[in-house]
Amino acid sequence: MLQIKGTIFDIRSFSLHDGPGIRTTIFFKGCPLCCAWCHNPEGQKVEIEKINCTRIVDSKKFPLSELVGYEISVAQLMQQLESDRPFFEQSQGGITLSGGEPLLQSAFCKAVLQAAEEQEIHTALDTCGFATNAVFADVAQHAKLVLYDLKIIDLHQHRLMTAENNDLILKNLEWLSKQSIPIFIRIPLIQNITDTEQNIHALRQIIEKTPHIESIDLLPYHQFARNKYKNLNLEYTLSELDNYPKEKAEELQFFFKNSAPRVTIGG
Ligand code: SF4
Repeated sequence: MLQIKGTIFDIRSFSLHDGPGIRTTIFFKGCPLCCAWCHNPEGQKVEIEKINCTRIVDSKKFPLSELVGYEISVAQLMQQLESDRPFFEQSQGGITLSGGEPLLQSAFCKAVLQAAEEQEIHTALDTCGFATNAVFADVAQHAKLVLYDLKIIDLHQHRLMTAENNDLILKNLEWLSKQSIPIFIRIPLIQNITDTEQNIHALRQIIEKTPHIESIDLLPYHQFARNKYKNLNLEYTLSELDNYPKEKAEELQFFFKNSAPRVTIGG
């Protein structure tokens, strides 16, 4: 199990928004969805890829090529995470598997969750929920917490904005609701896409009939990803969209206030 390898594109320590306490987030490469607003486009392809970027030194620009992604075994990853253990213990934090979509590399994802469990490190699985139920159940049962993305409830709109249907996502949420694993629902706030009146009411209806939801995290859209799309030579259809207005995010926080014990802006 410790020899299983996966492809990741980043490991970030001291994260405060990917679950409780201080966390180290591991970003898996590859995602089955293609959300128009994705702020980690470098995580969408499972393959290691080359990006062109510019480094500025003494006000001069230098063109650069960099590889995004690298292979790592479970053993190597666990060894690397060991140095963050004191922070996990002091803050009741742990590790969060994110991406991309961790379930796309399900064997590696499951092995990391199991290795962390053996070493008594708390785990959170940050997932878009798009996987067969067999894969989802096989992996998610090993997580201590699931951060579950819910984006758009209308099937056609979901397909238009993410390139896939949401039927597996809703079925897996139903399965998850029957387990005892705590759930944080994560909703990206994208103007006129996920925050339409129809969608937020549909989201609330689903959330309120799902047990074990401990938090709703509203994630306002920001423009940070623009340069990433340019560097990857990808079209960014939302390039003109402004950052999500703070007042609207607060209105939605109020709208969801009775739907979960905690409603945050930003996680
Ligand atoms: S599910 Fe997340 S990582 Fe995948 S495309 Fe959508 S926003 Fe990006």
